[in-house]
Amino acid sequence: MSQKRDYYEVLGVAKGASEEEIKKAYRKMAIKYHPDKNPGDKEAEEKFKEAAEAYEVLSNSDKRAQYDRFGHNAPGGFGGGGGFSMDDIFSQFGDIFGDGSPFGDFFGGGQRGGGGRRAVQKGANIRVKVKLNLEDIAKGVEKKIKVKKYVACDRCNGSGAKDSSSFSTCKTCNGAGAVRRVQQTILGQMATTSTCPTCQGEGRTITNRCDSCVGEGRVNGEETISLNIPAGVSHDMQLSVSGKGHAAPRGGINGDLIVQIDEEEHEDLKRDGQNLIYDLLISYPEAVEGNSVEVPTIDGKARIKIDPGTQPGKLLRLKGKGLPSINSYGKGDLIIHVNIFVPEKISKEEQSLIDKMKDLPGFKPGHDQKGKGFFERMKDMFHGS
Ligand SMILES: [Zn+2]
Ligand SMILES: [Zn+2]
Repeated sequence: MSQKRDYYEVLGVAKGASEEEIKKAYRKMAIKYHPDKNPGDKEAEEKFKEAAEAYEVLSNSDKRAQYDRFGHNAPGGFGGGGGFSMDDIFSQFGDIFGDGSPFGDFFGGGQRGGGGRRAVQKGANIRVKVKLNLEDIAKGVEKKIKVKKYVACDRCNGSGAKDSSSFSTCKTCNGAGAVRRVQQTILGQMATTSTCPTCQGEGRTITNRCDSCVGEGRVNGEETISLNIPAGVSHDMQLSVSGKGHAAPRGGINGDLIVQIDEEEHEDLKRDGQNLIYDLLISYPEAVEGNSVEVPTIDGKARIKIDPGTQPGKLLRLKGKGLPSINSYGKGDLIIHVNIFVPEKISKEEQSLIDKMKDLPGFKPGHDQKGKGFFERMKDMFHGS
């Protein structure tokens, strides 16, 4: 398969396009490339599918946000890999041609697809929040969650019927699931198709319902789902697990499970993108004489060297001790922000030591820096002294 085109480009809209603009653009493309208007035209069919895939992502605010962030490489991917089948398109996007549009009846309207294809319903999506700590995020983690949802009925295998002889072909549509009629539209004479009102597009009716689900094909249940959360995710990021949402009525397609990341704050480390930040407090004697001190990292403790004469506000960097990126190689750094502890209360003995210190020339500002002020020292820091 060739390189995927940008979804905005496919629909011919700007990056910031509104929902309405996207819907309009898709409707236009879908009408232009609709297979009923371009019989046997493979290129039109490809264009039709491409537009449907773009619309599927851009019309869903969660998927659109992920696409804007990661492009076609979003975690979980888009468009189901090999693209859409025609059935998917008609079943998922029937609504775009629904009421209120000038082409309301063009493709049959309603939730179900036309074109003589059997309708497939989709179960609703389920949204869950998953709490993760920074250690989970650093390494990636498997989480098991229990979700209450509609599941396919065991007794009838999701069909809704008592047994295989409990169906009869729908008399209204003779099993096609759709009824066709010829109509005058602004585009000329069109054969239009609409969902069969008797069987809701399924092509058959149930004569004898399953006792367990009363013909629904699904029942209330729960499922334990194991989520493989990749390293490097961040707060409020959404991952979607396709097919793990609610079961659809009578053997349709399952909805999706949408997982929202809820990142817990770490006790010591603050996150800044891929970098982690630690606020280190050292004593005044340590700053003057230097020392070796322990700092927390995302995987245990590390020892770092404090040079003699360390100034407050100094930044030290432990390379690669930050977080991985979800979308590329390499890790962030741990940045240690050095500060000097100034006591608020001191004893009499400490007071007398300070009194002795304060008149000594070595403790006065300017000493040992050749009178350099803050800006001079900043220059040294960036250009080397
Ligand atoms: Zn059943
Ligand atoms: Zn029917």
